Amino acid sequence: MLSRIEVFQGDITTLHVDVLVNAANPSLMGGGGVDGAIHRAAGPALLEACKVVRQQQGECAPGQAVITLAGDLPAKAVIHTVGPVWQGGEQHEARILEDSYRNSLNLAAANGYKTLAFPAISTGAYGFPRVAAAQIAVNTVSDYLTRKPLPERVYFVCYDEEDTRLYQRLLTQRGQET
Ligand code: ADP
Repeated sequence: MLSRIEVFQGDITTLHVDVLVNAANPSLMGGGGVDGAIHRAAGPALLEACKVVRQQQGECAPGQAVITLAGDLPAKAVIHTVGPVWQGGEQHEARILEDSYRNSLNLAAANGYKTLAFPAISTGAYGFPRVAAAQIAVNTVSDYLTRKPLPERVYFVCYDEEDTRLYQRLLTQRGQET
């Protein structure tokens, strides 16, 4: 059986997938890191769409996800999820990170999208330890895909080679490598 998970090294904004996941902050008003890169590549329509969501629903709580258009990106939509800020591991950070992955997958599936790309949520400014975060990402996505038909394919987008090797190793351990 062909694996439904792939690792891609590079800039998430270049991917021609149905949905990109953004590691947003609760305000949904943009920020640094992957959030900044996605807003720059998408153009002002993305910020406008985020403002509408913000007006309708208020801030996005950690672990939750919302969906918008994708502006000038090659993707069709952007899912904004807020990961946990690492505070030492005793503040439910692992469960919140799982929620971010699972709620993003649910939202993509509910909208009928087939391909989705995740960045390494919370591992930049939010300080979640990289190996633990990658284990949660791989386990949560793998478990989800064994139970659900959509999305058909998920890409883990790694910004550097170290993360790429880490994800490949974890996927091999689960027997899911491409
Ligand atoms: P958070 O606030 O959730 O920690 P960051 O954007 O600071 O989010 O970092 C999340 C991850 O995204 C980091 O591993 C960082 O290296 C990576 N990253 C930054 N820019 C990009 C990009 N353009 N494409 C893919 N990943 C990126």
